[in-house]
Amino acid sequence: MLQVRNISFGYRKSLVLDALSFQVNPGENLAIIGESGSGKSTLLKLLYGEFDLNEGHIFWNNKEILGPKFNLVIGYDFMKYVAQEFDLMPFISVEENIGKFLSNFFPEEKQERISELLDVVELTAFAKTKLKTLSGGQKQRVALARAIAKQPEIILLDEPFSHIDNFKKQSLRRNVFKYLKDKHITCIVATHDKEDVLGIADQMLVLNKTGIEAYDTPENLYKNPETPLIASFFGEFSIINDAIIYAHQIQLVERSDLKATVIKSYFKGYYYLIEADSNGKNVFFEHPKRLKIGLKVCLNITK
Ligand code: ADP
Ligand code: MG
Repeated sequence: MLQVRNISFGYRKSLVLDALSFQVNPGENLAIIGESGSGKSTLLKLLYGEFDLNEGHIFWNNKEILGPKFNLVIGYDFMKYVAQEFDLMPFISVEENIGKFLSNFFPEEKQERISELLDVVELTAFAKTKLKTLSGGQKQRVALARAIAKQPEIILLDEPFSHIDNFKKQSLRRNVFKYLKDKHITCIVATHDKEDVLGIADQMLVLNKTGIEAYDTPENLYKNPETPLIASFFGEFSIINDAIIYAHQIQLVERSDLKATVIKSYFKGYYYLIEADSNGKNVFFEHPKRLKIGLKVCLNITK
């Protein structure tokens, strides 16, 4: 189990993270979300032991994760970390990069393992390609494969699919997270993409300025977003009579007390997101058709 106990950290005087505590069970997937600059990457680096904490302790099972002041070589065998800026070897092939830390003692097993990993990150066709000729997204996939190659007990992923195009992202995401679940590898992933969280994460930690805004299952946080910050992660919403209402929870009706004037319709695929003005406040709702600017509508909320 990963235990984070009352940790505080700042690069300079002001704290980036102030008195955080949480736990992650073995084999669980925890998503860390929060606005850019909220400290997601910093938190992952602290979990990896890259910096010394100002206060607090981090444990993986009974082992304390220590920073550079107490640990000569950063990192631990049971843990892998894929940074936002991944460092790979440019002049060797994709398969050599992936197998970099695998033992040469059993060459057949090593080759099998590399094939399996190439399959997970969908790079089989590029096995012999020199790394430096790959795109940013392909490199990111090599970094992922290399990190899971030795089956760590826990893996820390920082925006793991940020360089990967939408065509590849969906299947790759499913492959990687399924692989980690199947092998019972604890996974902590910092992301701003709700697709990395919904249907994948067991728990979700929402960071605000210096602390934890919420820590719960994605389902509970989605159904009961207690703050606008939490709701904003999941989609468009309005605040009506102090309640957070998602756009899909508002429908157009013949008559109601909630009246609004259409400002703009945004094409979203199978629906339009309609932005409207209700008594000087913005209201967002979904509708199957584009609505004319200036149209007066009556709205109904169904939660
Ligand atoms: P996120 O990953 O959520 O975008 P970061 O952890 O990268 O956030 O950054 C959190 C805060 O710490 C930001 O204000 C950022 O400017 C600051 N910061 C990040 N890295 C460093 C660093 N190496 N030195 C000084 N400040 C940093
Ligand atoms: Mg970051």
